[in-house]
Amino acid sequence: MTIEQVGIVGAGTMGTGIALLSCLGRYATRIHDPDEAVLVGAQTVVGDALAEGEEKHWSQEEAEAASGRLRPADTLADLAGSDLIIEAAPENLELKRRLFAELAAVCGPETILATNTSSLRVADIAAGTAHPEAIIGMHFFNPPVRMKLVEVVATTASSPLALEAATGVARQMDRTPIQAKDSPGFIANRLARPFSLESLRMLADGVADAATIDRVVRIGGGFRMGPFELLDLIGLDVNLEVARSFYEQGGKPERWRPSPIQEEMVAAGRLGRKVGKGFYDYASGRHRERDPEMGIEGPTLDREELSRIDPAGPEILPRLLAQISNEAAFALEDEIGSPADMNTAMRLGFNWPLGPLEFTGLIGADRAVALLEEMRQRLGDAYLPAPRLTRG
Ligand code: NAD
Repeated sequence: MTIEQVGIVGAGTMGTGIALLSCLGRYATRIHDPDEAVLVGAQTVVGDALAEGEEKHWSQEEAEAASGRLRPADTLADLAGSDLIIEAAPENLELKRRLFAELAAVCGPETILATNTSSLRVADIAAGTAHPEAIIGMHFFNPPVRMKLVEVVATTASSPLALEAATGVARQMDRTPIQAKDSPGFIANRLARPFSLESLRMLADGVADAATIDRVVRIGGGFRMGPFELLDLIGLDVNLEVARSFYEQGGKPERWRPSPIQEEMVAAGRLGRKVGKGFYDYASGRHRERDPEMGIEGPTLDREELSRIDPAGPEILPRLLAQISNEAAFALEDEIGSPADMNTAMRLGFNWPLGPLEFTGLIGADRAVALLEEMRQRLGDAYLPAPRLTRG
């Protein structure tokens, strides 16, 4: 099917970024937001972003042509001529259900309706609409213009046509689409779970303090940011919501239990960079150092000890990589995506240096299982190895 016009619902962080990609992808683009000021602001943001062409790899001509493709839509009904509509309204099931029912009423059954939800089941959003076969997930990452990944999420009701259209549009927007099952957190957010959770467990277990773990993960693991730096950046409260949602939706498996340390910190208002304090103290500008006020960190290492740490040291990286491998093995069992898509998801969605299954290859499934079994004896079922990992 040929897609000529893309409609976007919600002109916030994601809607605006997706509108930019849509214009650059040569689609006539219409964007709607009930907040008039937001809608006007979004057009300025897209225009400004396009004007920064050179750095962003598009020419002035392309930018000019792209900015001419964006038009605001005062009402949802104004999106009716679109071939594909991408919804990026707030993460609220009732709101999204209402929007999809309204969209289905104003558009014909041939219009593909996509949601950018990160944590809701696409099938729950589609439930009760007149044409669930036209509904699909298109999960972009933030900021859309810099993150190449799009998870395309077909429900059991989605038509092959909807899947093909969403995949084709993601490609024409110069993104890399992968196919994800309609399961909690889809692929990337789920496979990222152990990055923060296992690091928080190591902190609770007294393996090292946050700064040391960050340093080992960055230098030894090749990750761009350490887990605690990343938590501070995302916001501990935002990440805790995600953690709780996974735990509940997954039937409360031990390995997804939210961290008591994080719960305490959120309750104490240590939410990360946005408030100047999280695992690090930003007010003092010493954010790579341990904050002396933090009573709940593990043992403190002095500078001399820090400099002696082997970045590929005996505990931190193997523990983290064993849990990354374990989650990937559980995910393969749940058939949430292909092995290749799982690796792509983490390289492109989270800038990991390797995909999770590539990490499994690096440390070896046998070694991961042995380590998990040893940890399980000491710390319980959060370390239960996935049967698939045990089989090798
Ligand atoms: P946001 O708060 O920045 O934007 C939401 C926009 O929706 C706001 O401009 C708001 O005015 C508008 N809105 C409110 N009610 C509406 C309605 N009835 N109809 C249309 N628009 C309405 O949120 P966001 O961060 O852009 O997230 C949007 C969606 O994308 C959510 O489902 C979120 O889970 C998902 N998502 C977010 C990220 C991220 O990192 N921010 C990443 C991937 C997916």
